[in-house]
Amino acid sequence: MSEKIYPICVIGGGSAGTMAALRTVLNNDECLFFPGSPKDKKKSRALWVRKIENMPAHYQYKRGIEEPNLETLKWIQDSDFREKLFLQKNLGVAEIKKNEHGLFEITDSKGGKYLSQHVILCTGVMDVQPHIQGSIESVFDYANSQTIDYCLICDGHHVLNKKTVVIGHENSAAWIAIMLHERYFPPEMTIITNGKEPNFQEDTLKLLNLYNIRVLTSPVQEIQGEDKGKTLKGFLLEDQNVVQAQMSFISMGMIVYNELALALKAEVDERGFVKTDANGLSSVPGLYVAGDLRANTRKQIYTAWDGAVGSANAINQILRSNRRQKLLNS
Ligand SMILES: Cc1cc2nc3c(=O)[nH]c(=O)nc-3n(C[C@H](O)[C@H](O)[C@H](O)COP(=O)(O)OP(=O)(O)OC[C@H]3O[C@@H](n4cnc5c(N)ncnc54)[C@H](O)[C@@H]3O)c2cc1C
Repeated sequence: MSEKIYPICVIGGGSAGTMAALRTVLNNDECLFFPGSPKDKKKSRALWVRKIENMPAHYQYKRGIEEPNLETLKWIQDSDFREKLFLQKNLGVAEIKKNEHGLFEITDSKGGKYLSQHVILCTGVMDVQPHIQGSIESVFDYANSQTIDYCLICDGHHVLNKKTVVIGHENSAAWIAIMLHERYFPPEMTIITNGKEPNFQEDTLKLLNLYNIRVLTSPVQEIQGEDKGKTLKGFLLEDQNVVQAQMSFISMGMIVYNELALALKAEVDERGFVKTDANGLSSVPGLYVAGDLRANTRKQIYTAWDGAVGSANAINQILRSNRRQKLLNS
């Protein structure tokens, strides 16, 4: 274990982690930064996102999160604040615990050990994918081309004038279909539960009927389309029904990457998101959480940014006030 004690460790290199690292160094605080191992990156939402259309100034990027994040790191490394950033490139955090002095003991994905006073945890979440013929792979081309989408706020507008399918069986999937219908009036809207029993509430069912939203329960046999997923044509179901669609949404819940928070015994909500105060401070002293992992937040880039800034600033305030007190007491 190195003797050095970092004031702030940022874990996760998506939107929240990159902003937390940027704000930390701009506050002139040292930042130990783990953007994640190649394995961690594969699990991240940042990797799935292509075009960002719901935020100003992002239209030129082909990979709307990864490219601006890399630019940000490069800017830090070229700036006067470069010595504040302790970037652990291609490394994730495998283990974390608190020692008897209240410091976080961090073990990276290659076994390296570090000490930190505060942590900003930004490990994110991942959308659950439907199994089609026992595998999730047939979804990938369409997800990469965004003819299959996941986020109503980010990409709901894609359904304008397009026959649309929502895949999911929980009430939340029905509400995605209802909201898309109410906002964009697509010419046809179908919910496919992919072999699961629909778990819709009575009021929701009433609206589905009123809006002529069909619910089909047969499992999907094949996604039909062309051009490596750029064109979606529809879904062939196992009962041989073909549902035409040019756009689709998957709404099957999220896998929450809360393992490190749970290892520290942080309080989580019923879905696994970490509960925090307004600055992202969890139930564990010194452990802050930003981005999609934080409970009760809109799962968006700009909320991830704002949350990360709040956490980095809250820690900076503690560090400054400790230094001030020491000075006043000396
Ligand atoms: C298809 C799709 C399209 C979207 N489009 C938009 C959009 O247009 N606009 C918008 O605002 N939002 C959009 N979103 C939502 C947006 O992607 C998320 O809100 C945002 O990525 C959240 O940032 P985050 O930092 O919390 O998580 P992520 O971006 O998922 O980043 C998590 C990071 O944690 C790292 N990590 C994980 N485990 C570890 C570990 N143990 N150690 C170290 N690092 C680790 C990963 O490598 C990754 O870098 C979209 C999401 C999806 C899936």
